[in-house]
Amino acid sequence: MESMTLKNVKVGSSATVEAVGGTGALRQHLLDMGVIPGAELTVMKLAPMGDPMQIRIHGYELTLRLADAENITVTLAEGAKPEAEQERNAPRRKPDHPGLGETGKFHPKGSGDPLPEGTLLSFALVGNQNSGKTTLFNQLTGSKQHVGNFPGVTVDRKDGAVRGYKNTRITDLPGIYSMSPYSGEELVSRNFVLDDKPTGIINIVDVTNIERNLYLTMQLLEMDVPTVVALNMMDELTGNGGSVDVNAMEELLGVPVVPISAAKDQGVDELAAHAVHIARFREKPLKQDFCSREDNGGAVHQCLHAVMHLIEDHAEKAGIPLRFAASKVVEGDKLIIEKLELDSNEKEALEHIIVQMEHERGLDRSAAIADMRFSYIKKVCESCVIKPRESREHKRSRRIDKVLTGKYTALPIFILIMGLVFFLTFNVIGYGLQQLLELGIGKLSELVDGLLTAGNVNPVLHGLIIDGIFEGVGSVLSFLPIIVTLFFFLSLLEDSGYIARVAFFMDKLLRRIGLSGRSIVPMLIGFGCTVPAVMATRTLPSDRDRRMTILLTPFMSCTAKLPIYSFFVSAFFKGRGGLIMTGLYLLGILMGILFALVAKMTAFRGEAVPFVMELPNYRLPSPKNVLQLLWEKSKDFLQRAFTVILIATVAVWFLKSFDFHFNLVEDSHDSMLAAIASLLVPVFRPLGLGDWRICTSLISGFIAKESVVSVMEVLFTGEGVYAVMTTLTAVCMLVFSLLYTPCVASIAAIRRELGGKWAIGVVLWQCGIAWTVTLIIRLVCMLCGMR
Ligand code: GDP
Ligand code: MG
Repeated sequence: MESMTLKNVKVGSSATVEAVGGTGALRQHLLDMGVIPGAELTVMKLAPMGDPMQIRIHGYELTLRLADAENITVTLAEGAKPEAEQERNAPRRKPDHPGLGETGKFHPKGSGDPLPEGTLLSFALVGNQNSGKTTLFNQLTGSKQHVGNFPGVTVDRKDGAVRGYKNTRITDLPGIYSMSPYSGEELVSRNFVLDDKPTGIINIVDVTNIERNLYLTMQLLEMDVPTVVALNMMDELTGNGGSVDVNAMEELLGVPVVPISAAKDQGVDELAAHAVHIARFREKPLKQDFCSREDNGGAVHQCLHAVMHLIEDHAEKAGIPLRFAASKVVEGDKLIIEKLELDSNEKEALEHIIVQMEHERGLDRSAAIADMRFSYIKKVCESCVIKPRESREHKRSRRIDKVLTGKYTALPIFILIMGLVFFLTFNVIGYGLQQLLELGIGKLSELVDGLLTAGNVNPVLHGLIIDGIFEGVGSVLSFLPIIVTLFFFLSLLEDSGYIARVAFFMDKLLRRIGLSGRSIVPMLIGFGCTVPAVMATRTLPSDRDRRMTILLTPFMSCTAKLPIYSFFVSAFFKGRGGLIMTGLYLLGILMGILFALVAKMTAFRGEAVPFVMELPNYRLPSPKNVLQLLWEKSKDFLQRAFTVILIATVAVWFLKSFDFHFNLVEDSHDSMLAAIASLLVPVFRPLGLGDWRICTSLISGFIAKESVVSVMEVLFTGEGVYAVMTTLTAVCMLVFSLLYTPCVASIAAIRRELGGKWAIGVVLWQCGIAWTVTLIIRLVCMLCGMR
């Protein structure tokens, strides 16, 4: 028996956790994920770059950075085979109960004291990530959903009525693993249950991963709210020879348990019936007391009950369920302790009780509570769950992972997949749809144009409608097909479980710039289009990471800048196009990295979220979920297109069409825009771009980057752009276009995610950076003798 840190355990070896070091939220999170003293684990593999590692614990896969693994002490399980854990789980007895749907045997219906007829029954849908929450939500609500935000935070909130029941509302909460406030999302979920006081909780549990999923259930039951447990993925479990004794589990948990398969729409109606029933009849969980007098001398049991006794009136006053408050106080949850408003005497007494427990139990407070929960879960699983041998899905996942996260294959395949996604989006599907849409808008605009002319409409209004609204919103609308197609592929990759793998093997790289592996995907999408990239950051777990990722996406040169590049390359750098393009892309990335490093040392000090993440089995995404997502993203974008973007385009049209006496201008040279652009001329002169026409085209690039070239062509008619420009000015133009402010659609997306101040900030510093870098490059080029 040899003691060592988890970091030093060889791939393929099994070990038992002895102690979990570290402090604070990360440690609590590790405990919550089941890394507790006594747990058995197997090291599955290291990421291709050597960090993080992938372990298997409680029958699921978890990723962990080596730096965090170093804090975990383990003893090697000698001679144990890696798969031993699964083989021990061979069927112990035959299931003596029907698999799916035992209608309310445990709970006699129609008892209790019902809420008055017509009261709104509100449900919180709570569960781990990847437990099938979205799938279940879509099944329960149908397509009638309302998408919004939780107040004060940018965490998606979805509401919908339960199909077939009037006066019901179900809210999809972010996927969480515990009720400890580890990430912003967990806090949102916890506060929702505490403050919004839903009449019922639907707790979805991934039955193929039942130990870890029930850990959340244990804490939800402490909330003292009517709860029904939905055992999801039953199809996978039974398909592999496993089973659950549902009635026995109901007995042990004290709440109705309904086996379902959300993807196959099995058991969902029963679940709804149960949920509505318990909420209406206010049937609270029969059990909350998961500590037992017999466990380890009853230290935890005595401690919890003593704490409950002490804080009873405080908890009541603060409106926090007593049992929940007590276990959080023992865990040392600052937010809850603050809310309880304990005086110093009481705090001292509590501390005394807890220290006594730690001493008797031989574990620190957090570990003792986690252990208490997992012990109960073990009891539940041993008596009610027949686990399959290694499931087909897991075998398949392991085989797929050999390639997709293999040491030499992971990166090339990732590049290939992203390449394919971009090719299909920007050259085939998205492009085709875009052409179609543009054709439609063009035809419509022509039609309206004709009608306006025929109707002798005031030329100003005519101009506003055709050149302002149609042109502007039309050009932005043409983003829509790209966004839809990108999100289509993205949701396939996300729902199938691949994105989690990408985060796993890219983590080491991104960590250097203060981010975690999860940020790679939004940033890559940024090479396509900044708008969906910003929208895709929604999936990032921490606010800090999300913000930083959003600020980095503008550095990834988007496809709308390609026309600018090719315009100048074909004129000035014939034959060296590839070189120049690559150089530009690399310059963007380089500036992004520099920006990230500076940000990391200033505004974004602190660590990226620790990378403790579950790697779910690969699963087939459900078409319903994909369609729902596309619909949501399109709606979100369209709403923006018709507010912020419309206002901005009309403003530019206005500046372009009038002079300062509000007369319609004949020659664009006399317009307000030209005047403003002339003001900017001195600013651009050091860059060699001091021509009002160039300035005007750059301003118009704020609406859409594609228009930089077209505006220049219009303004330079006769003379020709090439006559005015030299190779040096072309270089400056390229660099400036690469780095300056993202277009208005992107700014609108950033504003939505981060707020107006940040959006303005992005515009300002992107322009500042672009200006500085262009100047430096110009000087260097001049020194090298370029003209
Ligand atoms: P969420 O992260 O909790 O919202 O989980 P999702 O609803 O996105 O589901 C994750 C994956 O599991 C998707 O690929 C679903 O298609 C799949 N899935 C969901 N429910 C079931 C089920 O009951 N059985 C099976 N086999 N797969 C499911
Ligand atoms: Mg989901």
